[in-house]
Amino acid sequence: MIKKKVNVRRPFLDLATAESIAAEFPTPIHVYDEAGIRANARRLHEAMAWNKGFKEYFAVKATPNPYILNLLKEEGCGVDCSSYTELQMAAAVGFRGEDIMFSSNVTPAEDYLLAAELGATINLDDYTHIDFLAATLGRIPKRISCRFNPGGHFVIGNEIMDNPGEAKYGFTLEQLIDGYRKLKELGAEEFGIHSFLVSNSTSDEYYPALAELLCRTAIQVREETGVEISFINLSGGIGIPYRPEQEEVDIFKVGREVQAAFESILGAAGFGEVALNTELGRYMLAPYGCLLTRVLHLKHIHKEYVGVDACAANLMRPAMYGAYHHITVLGKEDAPLDHVYDVTGGLCENNDKFAINRELPQIVPGDLLVIHDTGAHGFAMGYNYNGRLRSAELLLREDGSLQLIRRAETSADYFATLDWPGLPLR
Ligand SMILES: *Cc1c(COP(=O)(O)O)cnc(C)c1O
Repeated sequence: MIKKKVNVRRPFLDLATAESIAAEFPTPIHVYDEAGIRANARRLHEAMAWNKGFKEYFAVKATPNPYILNLLKEEGCGVDCSSYTELQMAAAVGFRGEDIMFSSNVTPAEDYLLAAELGATINLDDYTHIDFLAATLGRIPKRISCRFNPGGHFVIGNEIMDNPGEAKYGFTLEQLIDGYRKLKELGAEEFGIHSFLVSNSTSDEYYPALAELLCRTAIQVREETGVEISFINLSGGIGIPYRPEQEEVDIFKVGREVQAAFESILGAAGFGEVALNTELGRYMLAPYGCLLTRVLHLKHIHKEYVGVDACAANLMRPAMYGAYHHITVLGKEDAPLDHVYDVTGGLCENNDKFAINRELPQIVPGDLLVIHDTGAHGFAMGYNYNGRLRSAELLLREDGSLQLIRRAETSADYFATLDWPGLPLR
């Protein structure tokens, strides 16, 4: 007998919960799972507990919502900001000083001014920003970090992981050496090194390999400049298994291997305590958010289409990168996957498809679908094309209650920046 394919992944919402959500709030809606977020943050801290100075600076851009930031703050995280408004949000949540990393690029002066006012650790993206920052602030902060771009290909084993030589970020090695020398002359006293070489990596090898590279670079920096690096920032990039056949990163193994790199390289070179920092976004939030959407129409032409009330304006990743997001039809979790559909939104763009040729159970109008793993870079990348409005965000609390953490946009929000008579502003 041929085994029937069924959906192996379960969302954190079941049909009853989803229907109670939909009875109270309009779909589409982004829902976050407090229990999942907290448990994962605790796991990360446990895996990195060997490092006294460990700090995860959550990448605000992934899920810019103060309620989410506050939750992570309660779990001991700081924030990584990259723009003026992200800094404003971080400040409003109560982040200050060393709890803020400012990792921006092509940075305007006003952003540096606000970052400095908040006491954030500024992570410079470019050699020329040293002079720019000094001119903007009239000084160089005592604590400062530089972003390193080694160029070429980033290879682990025989596998090319990514292509830093084509990436716009960071200092070259020569600039880095000169840069630390110059920063020291200008009064900096505490130095960090940062690098972000691979995005969405589910390889257990990525962080350890990056840690090794940065540890060796720290030694070279000390040899050539006398500057001693005291914090190493592995930035973001740990991925999640969007596809059901993918495996998740073993964060404890990653922690042990980063520790081994620190001890064997920095320890052997006689470095004191070097703090480990991360700026994870996706890993912290993606699996703990989903997009709940209702089926509006079925369409049968040259293919079978399922039209839902969400569109790429609510979740851009599939349209933008062809990214896979798993889909569950609620109430049909155990039904055979014996239909093939394209699941589409209603934008006037043919790339507005959440899934193409996806095996799913039979779908009828009114079904509720969960689009998985939208907790990071989901709502955040939303936009208003075709006059579409951004959805609400809802937090499913640990006690099972629901907290609206962002209301849905209305047409008044959409028209708010236009001064034209007759547009509904209320
Ligand atoms: C986007 C970004 C992150 C977070 O990346 P993830 O892939 O979500 O982990 C961290 N740091 C910087 C500087 C970024 O630009």
